[in-house]
Amino acid sequence: MLQQVNGHSSNPDAHGRKPLREDLQEFLGQDAPLLLLDDLTKVNPVTLETVLRCLQARYMADTFYTNAGCTLVALNPFKPVPQLYSPELMRQYHAAPQPQKLKPHIFGVGEQTYRNVKSLIEPVNQSIVVSGESGAGKTWTSRCLMKFYAVVAASPTSWESHRIAERIEQRILNSNPVMEAFGNACTLRNNNSSRFGKFIQLQLNRTQQMTGAAVQTYLLEKTRVAYQASSERNFHIFYQICKGANADERLQWHLPEGAAFSWLPNPERTLEEDCFEVTREAMLHLGISAPTQNNIFKVLAGLLHLGNIRFADSGDEAQPCQLMDDAKCSFRTSASLLWLPEDPLLETLQIRTIRAGRQQQVFRKPCSQAECDTRRDCLAKLVYARLFDWLVSVINSSICADPNSWTTFIGLLDVYGFESFPDNSLEQLCINYANEKLQQHFVAHYLRAQQEEYAVEGLEWSFVNYQDNQTCLDLIEGSPVSICSLINEECRLNRPSSAAQLQTRIESALAGSPCLGHNKLSREPSFIVVHYAGPVRYHTAGLVEKNKDPVPPELTRLLQQSQDPLLKVLFPADPEETSQEEPSGQSRVPVLTVVSKFKASLEQLLQVLHGTTPHYIRCIKPNGQGRAQTFLREEVLSQLEACGLVETIHISAAGFPIRVSHQNFVERYELLRRLRPRISPAPHIPSDKGCSEWSPRAEAPTLQPLLQDIFHSLPALTRAAATPGGPAEATPASV
Ligand code: ADP
Ligand code: MG
Repeated sequence: MLQQVNGHSSNPDAHGRKPLREDLQEFLGQDAPLLLLDDLTKVNPVTLETVLRCLQARYMADTFYTNAGCTLVALNPFKPVPQLYSPELMRQYHAAPQPQKLKPHIFGVGEQTYRNVKSLIEPVNQSIVVSGESGAGKTWTSRCLMKFYAVVAASPTSWESHRIAERIEQRILNSNPVMEAFGNACTLRNNNSSRFGKFIQLQLNRTQQMTGAAVQTYLLEKTRVAYQASSERNFHIFYQICKGANADERLQWHLPEGAAFSWLPNPERTLEEDCFEVTREAMLHLGISAPTQNNIFKVLAGLLHLGNIRFADSGDEAQPCQLMDDAKCSFRTSASLLWLPEDPLLETLQIRTIRAGRQQQVFRKPCSQAECDTRRDCLAKLVYARLFDWLVSVINSSICADPNSWTTFIGLLDVYGFESFPDNSLEQLCINYANEKLQQHFVAHYLRAQQEEYAVEGLEWSFVNYQDNQTCLDLIEGSPVSICSLINEECRLNRPSSAAQLQTRIESALAGSPCLGHNKLSREPSFIVVHYAGPVRYHTAGLVEKNKDPVPPELTRLLQQSQDPLLKVLFPADPEETSQEEPSGQSRVPVLTVVSKFKASLEQLLQVLHGTTPHYIRCIKPNGQGRAQTFLREEVLSQLEACGLVETIHISAAGFPIRVSHQNFVERYELLRRLRPRISPAPHIPSDKGCSEWSPRAEAPTLQPLLQDIFHSLPALTRAAATPGGPAEATPASV
């Protein structure tokens, strides 16, 4: 019976699913029929429990994709399923007359999106928002979608005719390994966690061929260069160069086999992401020559040696801290790899230059040991962040299209998922803030728009109470007072403020917000935000300083002195910058704080998204350990709750699946009136003044295809026009 249900033979089907094993049949028991349900709107009744059981049954039978009305739910298989992403399957979805009738799949979403761009008289840009927790499969999904478009929207002649060796689609795909090598890292949640957000715009010409792309990145977690939480790692590229360099390169970059670097924790762990060759190859395809690559890796090795520099306290405030004996070699190596003069490098790390007094005289103040460390870390972050931005701009210039060559785009958004660690700081606040914004975009665009539309149309409708996260967003970013405004104010006032004081200010100014959690148990100064995905405790220590992200001007000036060709590009001489000094006694107040910059880029992104028709893919992590065939109900449940999936299903299930304007409806089906005596039951055509004005003009020879069309769509049409509910073949399965 189950084999019939799935239509499985003894071999895996195109989706890689094998026939149900006996033990699985037994395991699923009465839930076995749930495998049938390709759309969660067909589960009856729709509750968290039934949705969970349906997803579990499908997951255990290797069915990883399920529709949930307008959203596709993607369960992470945590194992290779090559058949599920084969070019043949891509072509099947692309060629299908009605891809939505095929099994739910990201290629179905991809194809629908592609057709939307194609079929509309007035083409509308599309976007696919891929969301989910860290490790749920967002990056994997976006990568597969890019591969899908590289196949279905390939531009066959244009680039070949220009004799460009590498096709544009290939170059777009090659941007993935490069960005992941420099922007991804192994975290507690995901071995290949993206430490930046990415929006890629695939640009299509009038014939829907991909002519180019543009990448926009968001908030690289640059602190990771100099600080890695326990059991986590630095960005992959550092491990790649240490493991993959050949003998010559090891000599050049001073990376002897087995060398220990304090910024390279857990080097013994080997990940598949550690493949240096893949990164190099992809960089070459993007036009980054071998000598330039060599230069990049040499600078990165310089940063690793910089991380081994230690200072000893001089014991006298007037005397600068000195390099520890065992750090002297690392210091010299770092200076030589970064092609920086040794004395100015040491002095910049040891001594702060400040302006004071009416005459704005310049004073030099020795730094404490902790300050020396901060300046060292700051130097590394500055170089790495500029290198990353430069790489993104190189990638963009390699994949960009002539602005006149494209008319529409499909945007793929892959941003860091909601994060909650034992120790959360400004990075998590920004990440979770972005997730709140995207959740609101989803609510606004789909749930709210649909409900409001029904109200405007005067349709009878029982409103579902969906979870609106505006209150939480008000707490984070609202005016006049919010967490962001309070942290920014601390930066603006530039006053010494302890972590405890910041906690008190937040708690007293925002006490009225229901999304500010009760902060009773913590010993460390912190505050709790109740996000749509759950409460998160943020520690206030270091928050203000991180938000300022001060870059002492001496550091920039120092890097401008480098003779290294790459650093010369990353730090061009800037006469204005050269004249800046730190203001008296305190770190420089930045014009824009990290939070303000992030907020601005987020608003820009949302503006772009608002101008598109959005499609949603919700990635779900079946377990936190990355194990195949393991579905932990508790963990999935919290993700389902967090994204309000049940509310979405309720609305989708009860909504009208087909939306045709009255005018179009009448124009398309006016013939039914004529045929009415011959069709039983007769479809209901709503009466309206537009309807009474129709007059059939179709001549006999053109009638045949139209009649076929009508008879084909009659059952669904009858239902759609008469009652709210799923398509005609949607038989609710009771659970
Ligand atoms: P996210 O971007 O949401 O943090 P990733 O896309 O990096 O998560 O996925 C985490 C890991 O899960 C991947 O490295 C991969 O091992 C596995 N994974 C995700 N999606 C799939 C899939 N469709 N098939 C097989 N493995 C997957
Ligand atoms: Mg990712």
